[in-house]
Amino acid sequence: VFVHLGFAPVIEVFDLNRKFDEDNSTCKINLGLGAYRTDDGKPWVLPVVREAEKRVVADENINHEYLPICGLHPFRQAAARLALGDNSPAISENRVLSIQCMGGTGTLRLAAEFLKQKLKFDTVYVSSLTWDNHVGIFQATGYSQIHEYSYWDPITKGLDFQGLTDDLKNATEKSVVIFHTCAHNTTANDPTEEQWKEIFRICKRKQLMPLMDCTYQGLVSGDVDTDAFPLRHLDSEGFEFLIAQSFSKNFGLYNERLGNLCLITKDRTVLDEVRSQFEFIIRKLWSNPCHHGARTVSTILNDPKLCTEWKEEVKVMADRIKSMRKLLYNKLIELNTPGSWDFISSQTGMFIFTGMTKPQVECLCTKYHIYLTKTGRINMCAVTSKNVDYIAKAIHDAVVN
Ligand code: PLP
Repeated sequence: VFVHLGFAPVIEVFDLNRKFDEDNSTCKINLGLGAYRTDDGKPWVLPVVREAEKRVVADENINHEYLPICGLHPFRQAAARLALGDNSPAISENRVLSIQCMGGTGTLRLAAEFLKQKLKFDTVYVSSLTWDNHVGIFQATGYSQIHEYSYWDPITKGLDFQGLTDDLKNATEKSVVIFHTCAHNTTANDPTEEQWKEIFRICKRKQLMPLMDCTYQGLVSGDVDTDAFPLRHLDSEGFEFLIAQSFSKNFGLYNERLGNLCLITKDRTVLDEVRSQFEFIIRKLWSNPCHHGARTVSTILNDPKLCTEWKEEVKVMADRIKSMRKLLYNKLIELNTPGSWDFISSQTGMFIFTGMTKPQVECLCTKYHIYLTKTGRINMCAVTSKNVDYIAKAIHDAVVN
């Protein structure tokens, strides 16, 4: 029965991890996976997460009973507040449905399922380029129309705002549009506040449904409120929209699979009905979510002292990424590497999108044991003060030869 299946397409970042693990070279570096590293190149369990976990484990009132289908109530409330802010009109008017999910991925899948099954959406627009799973998730959910809107300008290595707005103006009305709230993965380019306002004006005119992927909140500016500008703007303008939050990156809780979906409606009287529709879908997906990560994040966000500590630790991550950008840029300038590298500092978030060609990427991998996605995206978190010289020299060689 199973013999004719053959292999499914390779999942690139996990394949890179495997190749990296199997590589015996002492100078190998993994710039592929989107995970934070310390300046020693090690994973970082945030001290505030350690502290919260200690409290969770010590609490004898906590047990292993099933959570409600929509998840842990104090977590859901705190997650919505984190996205929409303390002065959110939607929260104060009780117009937000907040649902704990399985990572950012599960959150996006739930949004896709709900919009298709219950509201009959069948068309989605994703940025060109984007995190490849955006397409994968909507394909797997059965959307028949998956289109790209312009985003990346290879000439300027920046945002193609004209192309973006033109494409949205020509989009099919009443479609879903996925936006990256901040730290656009893969191009590392975000719209300015004025550009966001224009984008959302078009969405309103065309009755497009914004689905805001919020995976890197805090990791651009170091401030979770600043990075949430597009969400807060949509809220203040009275939009109906969805937010898919991930807690993998900004809490370093990658393997806890914690996400949260916020649905903001104009009409609070529909919330109970909408929640029941979500529960009906979730029951068949994961039935009810995991506890540990949600309890940990809830402990942090609902304790003012821990919450302040967490925000400081997010800033530590964002600042380290920024300083590595500067360092890598300076090294390439010192080496006189051909091309303009200004984009390294103007791009934002965890990644830089180098625009390197496939042969250049291959050269980094085969000659220097430096692993990165074939699009030439570099995870800046994996660049350290110890390996930056080696990386810069390798890039220089790949570009020159
Ligand atoms: N959305 C974007 C843009 C991402 O980059 C990622 C992860 O890399 C996700 C969603 C998924 O996050 P999670 O690991 O929480 O499933």
